[in-house]
Amino acid sequence: MSFIITNIAHGWTGEAAGTRVTSAIRVEGDRIAEVGDLTPAPGEEVIDATGCVVIPGLVNTHHHLFQSVLKGLAIDEALDNWLAQVPYRFWPRLDEEALRVSARIGLAELALTGATTVCDHHYLFPDAYDYDPAEVLFDEAGKLGLRFVLARGGMTKGRQFGADTPPPPTETLAQFLDGLSAAASRWHDPSDMAMTRVACAPTTPNFNVEPGELVEMAQEARRLGLRLHCHLSENGGYAAHTLKTWGQRPVPWLADKGWLGEDVWFAHLVDLEADEVALLAETGSAMAHCPQANARLGSGVAPAPALHGLGGAVSLAVDGAGANEAADMGMALYSAFAIQRATGGVDAVNAGTVLHWATMGGAKALGIPGIGRIAPGMAADITLFDLSHPRTFGLHDPALAPVVSGAAQVRHSFVAGRPVVRDGRLPGLDLADLARDAARITARVAARPETMPA
Ligand SMILES: [Zn+2]
Repeated sequence: MSFIITNIAHGWTGEAAGTRVTSAIRVEGDRIAEVGDLTPAPGEEVIDATGCVVIPGLVNTHHHLFQSVLKGLAIDEALDNWLAQVPYRFWPRLDEEALRVSARIGLAELALTGATTVCDHHYLFPDAYDYDPAEVLFDEAGKLGLRFVLARGGMTKGRQFGADTPPPPTETLAQFLDGLSAAASRWHDPSDMAMTRVACAPTTPNFNVEPGELVEMAQEARRLGLRLHCHLSENGGYAAHTLKTWGQRPVPWLADKGWLGEDVWFAHLVDLEADEVALLAETGSAMAHCPQANARLGSGVAPAPALHGLGGAVSLAVDGAGANEAADMGMALYSAFAIQRATGGVDAVNAGTVLHWATMGGAKALGIPGIGRIAPGMAADITLFDLSHPRTFGLHDPALAPVVSGAAQVRHSFVAGRPVVRDGRLPGLDLADLARDAARITARVAARPETMPA
């Protein structure tokens, strides 16, 4: 299987320097064979990039696919009340079909806006479910042809949110570790171009896990060759709670539990002090920057440019559609660009840096070094953004479009050389059917009484 992408006038390699690609790309099998002034071989399939911006496929390093049928709820609430009124209120209603349709919606949104790799942090593993959420998620991602990382969440103790909210689904440490190990043995591929991975990802350790359990989780994950992930310091409440309960701020609190390092990445990291940013940079612990969710929930602005400036690892993420309303990678790119400049001035970040975060930065956070960059030998994960929309007309430098215009339109997208978006469509997925399923499931989830036991 070989094809060539020609007539590339506007493109990015994904490198931190904002390097452009303006030539042609030849794909052979699952990887990029050549980049340069190339001529199509006789009979070779040609993808014409005229009117497109060519970039490495985008890497979304933190998501919650179960929330795609929970959009627009508790829209004026901050994080704690939103948690109570959305994920922790609705989790008992997510039967297998609801999760499947929700995942399909989210993955379709992400693929159609340029994502080729998705990490889903699933934190609901109750005994009450008669299905394995991990199996549903890998199955749906596989059908669309996306690279998929399951950040296997869960908790040993749940926060109590009040009488109207069912008790959060908890596991014992042994159940958590058994579930992690079972998922890893089935889906974890440690290779540089893995299509499926598993990470160890307790939901929010400072609330949901005992310190000793955290140490055991890190040890077991590393024994299995898995990376570590969790929510951290999403707003000021996290640091206040951690200081009050454990006497330390969140990053140093995790440091002595073995939870910092090049195999660790955290979602959010909004409320950080300067020494915490430095510690993250020194240890190579990565950030999944979620600017849209942080804005929507009024949580604040993560110091992503500061971490990047210290040589730290920054990646980009949407976060769940329950705190976003859209799983749109274009909006994530634009939000990072605009929000960082709103608070840090125009020098805070440029378009090339934001794209780097969303490509090579994502590859680094997830530890999949074969993706995220357009260069010979890299995985053929390539996205062609479509410029045939009025929002991009008039741009003097059309390569800026994926970042500065927001709301991405993808013409073609490839994962490991295989098309996941073709002419703006997802092969094998009928969006009219998905719309009907989405309406039916959303109505059912809204109406169904909370009958399942916790
Ligand atoms: Zn999250």
